[in-house]
Amino acid sequence: MTALQSDPFEGQHALVTGGGRGIGAAIADALAARGAALTLLGRTEATLEAKQADLAENFGVAAGTAAADVTDEAAVEAAFARAVAERGPISILVNNAGRGDSAPFKRTTTEFFMRMVEINLLSTFLCIRQALPAMTEAGYGRIINIASTAGLVGYRYVTAYVASKHGVVGLTRSLALETAKSGVTVNAVCPGYVETDMTADTIANIVEKTGMDVEAARAQLAQGNPQGRLIDPEEVANVVVWLARPDSGSITGQSIPVAGGEIM
Ligand code: NAP
Repeated sequence: MTALQSDPFEGQHALVTGGGRGIGAAIADALAARGAALTLLGRTEATLEAKQADLAENFGVAAGTAAADVTDEAAVEAAFARAVAERGPISILVNNAGRGDSAPFKRTTTEFFMRMVEINLLSTFLCIRQALPAMTEAGYGRIINIASTAGLVGYRYVTAYVASKHGVVGLTRSLALETAKSGVTVNAVCPGYVETDMTADTIANIVEKTGMDVEAARAQLAQGNPQGRLIDPEEVANVVVWLARPDSGSITGQSIPVAGGEIM
């Protein structure tokens, strides 16, 4: 048995998409607290820079930002190249940036559908393509995709989101088989409703559509979780840390629900 290291990511460079806020920011904190240098990738520079300063101050790690839209292949390529030039090869990639818009199927246009697929699925593919060759060459890497319980089961009024997240789970499984002998693991984390801006938007949407008050709308979302609550971003981050650890090398191709028992 190897002893648990307190700084298992010392000397490693982790890139977290959507790392400026929400689940991504909690993941950045958890990795930085255990020694990783961080690159935060997202669209909003001010949010990224605020989080970067926070990481440097709280954890004393090298942290940088990369402003890019994850659906823009050229911007993603340039952002990864800059991150690698500044902080070295990426050994931990967390594909977290995403969006969860809802619409009944009859109002799901082709444009809406493609937008969900681009933001949640194509982005994951584009970022992995940037990081995987160097991981394979090094014989080591951790790729962690933040999918959703919507990657494992269906829900009403979110066909595009559910299809895109099932795509992320499928990509995770296939790539894990392709990389199985390379030292690179590929896993997905599948949260239920988490306390973030995305869930606040969902609550606002329910309030607008049904006339329910905010507390009733929150309670409705919490009801889907057998523990009767929303999930803290830190709970998702803890699972990411576990998957990212050097001694988690035999765990690959998994899609792990973080949903209070909603999915078994
Ligand atoms: P959030 O608070 O809305 O944050 C989303 C993050 O993604 C932001 O940092 C945002 O940064 C970034 N992002 C969005 N579109 C982007 C784009 N086109 N290019 C680059 N960055 C982009 O969301 P969250 O709740 O933390 O969700 C994070 C992930 O968890 C998503 O993949 C989501 O599907 C998944 N998830 C969330 C929940 C939940 O209940 N919240 C449940 C299951 C799964 P900018 O806006 O600055 O670009």
